[in-house]
Amino acid sequence: MLINTELPILSIAIPSPLRRIFQYLPAKDTPMERLAVGARVAVPFGNQRALVGILIDISTNDGNSQHKLRPIHHLLDEESLGLDPEILALCQWCSQYYHSPLGEVCHLALPTLLRKPNNKPQPEEKWAWQLSHIGQTYDPSQFGRAHKQQQAWQYIREQQYLPPEQLKSNNISRATINTLIEKGLIEKILVEQFVDKTADEKTKAGEKINVTNPAFPLNAEQAHALDAIQTDEFSAYLLEGVTGSGKTEVYLQAIAKVIEKNQQVLVLVPEIGLTPQTAKRFQQRFNVPITTLHSGISNKQRFQLWWEAKTGKTPIVIGTRSAIFTPLPKLGLIVVDEEHDLSYKQQDGVRYSAKDTAIIRAQKKNIPIILGSATPSLETLHNALSQRFTHLQLTERATSTTLPSIRCIDSKESSLAPEVISAIHKALHQQQQVLVFINRRGYAPTLICQDCGWISQCDNCDSRMTLHHTKHQNSQSSSLLQCHHCDTKAQTPAHCPDCHSERLQPLGQGTQRSEEELQQLFSHTPILRIDRDSVSRKGELATALKTINSGEPCILVGTQMLAKGHHFPNVSLAVILGLDNSFFSSDFRGSERMGQLLTQVAGRAGREQHQGTVLLQTQFSQHPLLQKLINEGYHTLAQHLLAERKISNMPPFEHVAMVRCHAQQADIAIRFLKQARQMAERIMPAHTQLNYIGPFPATIEKRNNRYYYYLQIKAKNRAELHHILQQLCPQLENQRALKGLHWFIDVDPQES
Ligand code: ADP
Ligand code: ZN
Ligand code: ZN
Repeated sequence: MLINTELPILSIAIPSPLRRIFQYLPAKDTPMERLAVGARVAVPFGNQRALVGILIDISTNDGNSQHKLRPIHHLLDEESLGLDPEILALCQWCSQYYHSPLGEVCHLALPTLLRKPNNKPQPEEKWAWQLSHIGQTYDPSQFGRAHKQQQAWQYIREQQYLPPEQLKSNNISRATINTLIEKGLIEKILVEQFVDKTADEKTKAGEKINVTNPAFPLNAEQAHALDAIQTDEFSAYLLEGVTGSGKTEVYLQAIAKVIEKNQQVLVLVPEIGLTPQTAKRFQQRFNVPITTLHSGISNKQRFQLWWEAKTGKTPIVIGTRSAIFTPLPKLGLIVVDEEHDLSYKQQDGVRYSAKDTAIIRAQKKNIPIILGSATPSLETLHNALSQRFTHLQLTERATSTTLPSIRCIDSKESSLAPEVISAIHKALHQQQQVLVFINRRGYAPTLICQDCGWISQCDNCDSRMTLHHTKHQNSQSSSLLQCHHCDTKAQTPAHCPDCHSERLQPLGQGTQRSEEELQQLFSHTPILRIDRDSVSRKGELATALKTINSGEPCILVGTQMLAKGHHFPNVSLAVILGLDNSFFSSDFRGSERMGQLLTQVAGRAGREQHQGTVLLQTQFSQHPLLQKLINEGYHTLAQHLLAERKISNMPPFEHVAMVRCHAQQADIAIRFLKQARQMAERIMPAHTQLNYIGPFPATIEKRNNRYYYYLQIKAKNRAELHHILQQLCPQLENQRALKGLHWFIDVDPQES
């Protein structure tokens, strides 16, 4: 074969489980001048016909290996739809830190439509009508009796431009527009050019771009926090403010400063679908377009929004975890709201933390990042207490109410205690709303036979099946057993499968059972259930939120979903049920999570004019950590837990990574991890500040007929941990494939 050393070698990241970069040659017709790092290329790979890879490097050919290399199929992007250098660098960091293949991380950063070589999405240009030169000097008396034309002309003169999607809402017909065009009074313009032009004119005239509607005057603590936030260089801020202390107000005003400089802002939130109020608050405050990225938008829309962000057109992007990879060339500030929330860590595929990735992004870009929470994670709090992050605190509520304290109601029962019922009566009577939090969805966690003790066990998992009730249209209801781990569903048996007794009883309390109980007790009050089952039914959440926002008396029953950042002004009583199992969690983060959850649920009560009350129904009211939380608050509890973590050498004082695996047989998983441990010990033997634990089974060992096992590596020194993983991964990849085994690395795991 003829060797052509003029062809460069292309290093390409490919979405395959192998942690390496692959080399290709350009195709015969590849336009060399358009080859750029970050571009998308279609390549043949293994026996797959074409995959989308990202060009990582272009190097000169030394002629050594060329005959082994395959050419790419073709370069994909005419319109530079690849990864910006900043995003590519972020992907490279993620790939190294989380020990995931770079090609897989790059795919995370691309909108779905760009992950397949055959899709050819085209960004849409947004345009509008503006007055032409003639139109600007036109004498309106010349319109005569053509009132509609005059109105349209006037509107465009005042608003400066009219996009086609606003015709209807302004009652302007297409025919009127056509006549104005014929008269030469209006013309089309790209909105982007228009926005740039006005921004330019204003900047030149020394004017500020007016982006904000009136804000609140800040209280002293808020003002101090806002002042402390420097917007022109990297710094990480922990904004620790009790629930309802006005953290969002501080974000909004910090954001205003940044977009006034014509920069972009990225706001990460745990959930948007559930909290439309957050996006609404932003929309009310700013006179600029706001992009929200969430699971409800189509792939096409997502692509369009991604492209607009990438071309610098979107001043504010609000999104969930994966929005951290949104290209924003003029990024000037990142905000991570509810920074303690677990949803920032991806639990499958690339196991990255969007929060930690955000900190790295801010650092690389030399811009500030604000992490906000009423209940910061111990990692973040430790960083603030050790002065790596600037610690800003808001200790009081922004409104006239004070923070409600939690009162315990001792009860061994899972149904509502009499004291709780009378408190609900009282709140409803005062025209207020009540929130009942319960940790489990479904009707009851298990079904049990009262004669022989049979319980509804899932055949595929080490777990029990939950009893669910389904309401039908004819208002009859039926019940069903469902496993929350593998989603298996089964008919509820009429007789015990073991002893044929008919005495089968639901055991424990889920949201549906509470809903039923409350309906019987408060038959004239709307009861709104909010959990994964109810929210998945279209429109149900919207209807519920509408009732809640109307302020009329009602009772909300729901799971953690209710704890996430909601602002329900008329809720004055929060009731917490069924939290007792979490006091004895096997996870070392159990107490931290309990403290966060309780504080967040409690924080939903009494946020505006009514003083809040919080009742915790429990049989462990004397639990020392619970007492500490109730009497001294989350911050003190967190400091206490940090001191414990220090003594026991747990994160954030030491660093953890897990090699996780699952297989159809337990012994295959165990054998694989034993070998992994031997390899790791050969790379670096355990010492006083480095240890290996396992293989050990997951808390729920069998899930969906697969066995889950883990090996934990814990090190004082992060560099050592990464050194081991870096050496270990290729060795594990080279292992002879064990039947049906899947393994992966989880750095800074959030779940044990
Ligand atoms: P957080 O984000 O800390 O939970 P929010 O920003 O949602 O708190 O504020 C809680 C309530 O207090 C909201 O109704 C908000 O409008 C109000 N608020 C915030 N800052 C102020 C202020 N400086 N003066 C009066 N009300 C405020
Ligand atoms: Zn039985
Ligand atoms: Zn199951």
